Amino acid sequence: MAYRAEYLWIDGVAPTPEIRSKTKILPDGESPGVWGYDGSSTNQATGDNSDVVLNPVFSCPDPIRGGANILVMCEALLTDMTPHPTNTRALAVEALATYADQEPIFGLEQEYTLINPATGWPAGFPPNGFPAPQGPYYCGVGALKIHGRDLIEEHTSACIEAGLAISGTNAEVMPGQWEFQIGPVDTVTVGDHLWIARYLLYRLAENHGVEVSIKPKPMPGDWNGAGMHTNFSTKAMRESYEPIIAACEAMGALGKPEEHLTGYGVGIEDRLTGAHETQRFDEFSYGVSDRGASIRIPWQVAKDGKGYIEDRRPNANADPYVVSALVTETVCSALI
Ligand code: ADP
Ligand code: MN
Ligand code: MN
Ligand code: MN
Repeated sequence: MAYRAEYLWIDGVAPTPEIRSKTKILPDGESPGVWGYDGSSTNQATGDNSDVVLNPVFSCPDPIRGGANILVMCEALLTDMTPHPTNTRALAVEALATYADQEPIFGLEQEYTLINPATGWPAGFPPNGFPAPQGPYYCGVGALKIHGRDLIEEHTSACIEAGLAISGTNAEVMPGQWEFQIGPVDTVTVGDHLWIARYLLYRLAENHGVEVSIKPKPMPGDWNGAGMHTNFSTKAMRESYEPIIAACEAMGALGKPEEHLTGYGVGIEDRLTGAHETQRFDEFSYGVSDRGASIRIPWQVAKDGKGYIEDRRPNANADPYVVSALVTETVCSALI
């Protein structure tokens, strides 16, 4: 008997790279090796020099196909086997290798919006006009408030069966908007698991006839945007409070907020307006329980005098490898 390995990789389509995949059928007992694809169709090569190498970096059971079938997360390499310029995972690998002693870990909150392909509007928005204003939808229950829960349950089960570090889900503030969390796991693993979880979500949504959007501001106006809040700690932060404050200060050091925003996802100015539970993109602040700050220190962390910080700025469309590499580098290089 043969089995199927679904090779996953990240394309080079600017400004928001997305996940791609194709299937390899392997004889029983043979493990998935290096493969390749046509980079000229993914904005990663020219037609006359189109081969991009797929290097398997992480694999897990394929919860959709079941059986012996697997998902294989890959990094893109050039044919000389060095990282392709779009290989952002290499940045996360380097950051973790440099600072592994400080034991950085991440929990990412992936927000997203289910889109009705017939209208192009979020699920739960009527074809003409608007639903009732935000208020009852966040963590709500009931058919008028909640849209797409069957898909969310399927996706959660799939992530668990794949062995991903999914840690929770919730309905969000705008109708049709949801969140899942991955973590806490290390700088590289959080990106691997988050990209696979995105793949499973898009793939399962096909069966439900809905599209998943990670646009940071899917609806203009008085509707919440979609972020990828980034919870982060080092060993020292998990043990005492002083490193928590030092980490916030390192994140706000001269030039750092601007540097980070370049890697926090396209369209960040549209989402970080200062309204809808965000700080403005051109201001930096941190505070206990403050959902209007760039970085929130959860109340439990202030109470316990140790724990983690939440960077609320990354967009839903950010690349988790880029975000985790930036935060690891900034905080750990300050020896926190
Ligand atoms: P919020 O209240 O902001 O909605 P969530 O419960 O959605 O918070 O997400 C919190 C995230 O923080 C989870 O993904 C969890 O795994 C992560 N987390 C918990 N402890 C730590 C820690 N010490 N370091 C990093 N991340 C952590
Ligand atoms: Mn959350
Ligand atoms: Mn949220
Ligand atoms: Mn959050």
